[in-house]
Order: sequence, then C-alpha cells, then structure tokens
Amino acid sequence: MTDSARCWAMIPAAGVGRRFGGRVPKQYLELAGRRVIDHVLGLLLDHPTIAGCVVALDAADAWWPEGPFAGDPRVLRVVGGKERCHSVCNGLDGLVDTGEAGTEDWVLVHDAARPCLRRSDLDALLAALDDEPVGALLGIPVHDTVKRVAAEGGDGSGVGPEIVETVPREALWRAYTPQAFRLGLLHRALTRALGQGQLVTDDASAVELLGLRPRMVEGHADNIKITRPEDLPLAEFFLRQQGRID
Ligand code: C5P
Repeated sequence: MTDSARCWAMIPAAGVGRRFGGRVPKQYLELAGRRVIDHVLGLLLDHPTIAGCVVALDAADAWWPEGPFAGDPRVLRVVGGKERCHSVCNGLDGLVDTGEAGTEDWVLVHDAARPCLRRSDLDALLAALDDEPVGALLGIPVHDTVKRVAAEGGDGSGVGPEIVETVPREALWRAYTPQAFRLGLLHRALTRALGQGQLVTDDASAVELLGLRPRMVEGHADNIKITRPEDLPLAEFFLRQQGRID
C-alpha cells in the first residue's frame, strides 16, 4: 500500500456454528492452547500495517469477555446480524461511527473461523493493493474437476444428486479471506446488496454487484475455514507445519 490510507481488520464472528454443532461456537473452540478467534486476532493485530480491528459478535455471546482481547483498546466490538453479510455491514457501520476511519481507508474482512492465515499471504494481499482500483482477496485456483448437480436428489446420507454437467475449471478460483476493499466502497456495496435482498456470502460479491471486478491474489490452501469437527486437528497440523506452534 503506497498511499496514506490506513488499514483496518473486520472479523465477522457472530456465527453460531449450525453446521459444526456443539454448545460452543467454533470460533471459541480451543486450538493448540488458544481459541480459534484469538489466533486470528493475534496475527492481525501483530501486523504493523493494521491500525485496529472490529469484531462482530452474536448478541447473546457469552465467550468473548473471557478472552485475552476483550479489553484490548485496539479492538472494537459490535453486535452481528442474521447472516455473515449483516455482521460485516454492522462492523463497517461501527468503524465509520468511531470517526477514526476514512472512506479511503482499507478494510480487510477476515473470517474468525480461518485461524491458519499465513503472515506471508497477508503481506501478499497488502502488496497487491498498491495501485489496485477496486480491491483484492485471497484465494486459490480450483484444481479438482467440478460438477454441477441436479437441485434435488440423493438420499441425504452421502449418496448425492445426479450430475448435470462438468464445469470447466480453468477460470475457477476458490474465494478465501481476507478480502480487502476501501471502507467507503465496501460499505456502499454491502448496504446496496442488502437493500436489494441479496444475501451475499462474501464481500467481493457485493462489490461485483456494482459491476466492479476485484482481483484474486493466490494464497495457500491451508487457509481453511473451520466448518466441521475434523477441521480442528487439520488446523492444528497446519499451524505446526507453519512453525506457529511446537
Ligand atoms: O458460517 P460460516 O463458517 O460461513 O461463517 C463465516 C464467518 O462469518 C465466521 O467467522 C462466522 O462467525 C461469521 N458469521 C457472522 N455472522 C453470521 C454468520 C456467520 O459473523 N450471522
């Protein structure tokens, strides 16, 4: 980033983990001696370019106050919404309300459930923002063959629906986070998408709906989103492999 704009992190962490199951939401599960969300906040707040973080939490969240960042002055807390896109929008509202963040500042939206983000991938994303007119996000090219399937079918126990077609994978990437946009642009894009009833599943989608084309930046496949119980030991393996834990 070459201009004088500051850079903020926005962490949507208001999910209740319906797919994961269990009493404790997945962002508060222990992973190698630290909660999942605390790995994320530690990495982001350690970065010299990031001025502060906003976290969006469920209104009934009872776990956040027990963590090490609860009283951290660099972390602003807001109440999340029904879907991830509502939580991100609330976070951006909160950032604007502080009066500290300008419309030209960058916001990096990063899922609380992605604790294995590499510092080098974060640096690559920040570097890609130089002279970038729209915004950029981490992702990886799709290497598997991809099938489009029938909307219905299958027995619900692993046997799935029939294949309708094979989708050419050459132009397909998986979208990860962080996703980086100027605060004013992302705020406008998300507000408009929600106003139109479009419950976008990532931040870039809202910007794409404005007719703009954000840029993909290739990251690493270990930036997984904890989704199922078996992802936790996998995340621990990745953190060890990265040398972040013993
Ligand atoms: O549910 P999923 O894994 O796709 O959620 C991605 C991220 O969005 C998680 O960090 C989750 O806590 C957050 N989220 C949120 N508000 C919601 C739903 C999800 O902040 N209503």
